[in-house]
Amino acid sequence: MDYSELRREMVRTQLLPRGITDRRVIDAMLKVPRHLFVGEALRHRAYDDCALPIGEGQTISQPYMVAVMTELLELDGDERVLEIGTGSGYQAAVLAELAREVFTIERIEDIAKRAEALLRDLGYDNVYVFVGDGTKGLPDYAPFDRILITAGTPEIPEVLKKQLNDGGIIVAPVGSKYSQQLFRLIKKGHSFKTEYHTPCVFVPLIGEYGWKE
Ligand code: SAH
Repeated sequence: MDYSELRREMVRTQLLPRGITDRRVIDAMLKVPRHLFVGEALRHRAYDDCALPIGEGQTISQPYMVAVMTELLELDGDERVLEIGTGSGYQAAVLAELAREVFTIERIEDIAKRAEALLRDLGYDNVYVFVGDGTKGLPDYAPFDRILITAGTPEIPEVLKKQLNDGGIIVAPVGSKYSQQLFRLIKKGHSFKTEYHTPCVFVPLIGEYGWKE
């Protein structure tokens, strides 16, 4: 299988027609080997236009959703980014291509360990994987320039807003357990400007300031 050809096809048929324009995001999507972030049996479907299961009832997000969320973060290479919901580690790898440091937190230990090992094997030495409840953020490593929540949340936890630098951006799928909308919050001093983007479906964010188990 020619995976780099599949990546070009993915960009051409899934990202460009839906309005992804940021050249750096497109280059990162052309580069990161998404097929290595899914199990062997699903490898041939890794570049399909959908989310795929990664075990423990969790999923790797659809390529388009990864691209949109990354584009909304407006990364220029210098940022410290917090990701909540490591999952396969694929989104973290895309972020690592475009930012200085990526702190990513996953509540399921087995999933976190698998992602950490893969990211290490691929040479992503600017990604730090943590196990724990990401709804509380990572106070010891705050503040961050960007925060990305990759699981559906009823609202954006206040503690996360506090861990964001002035001028920083939070992107998160906000809504019910079954469907959400991508929100983008931009911090200006002590207030936030909120924008509403594409409808989406993510697995639930489970934790103290998310959904209860
Ligand atoms: N970004 C991932 C996809 C994430 S799926 C990727 O690129 O593959 C959402 C993940 O969020 C799941 O792995 C789930 O276990 C995790 N999650 C859910 N609630 C969480 C919480 N409170 N803290 C950290 N991770 C959480």
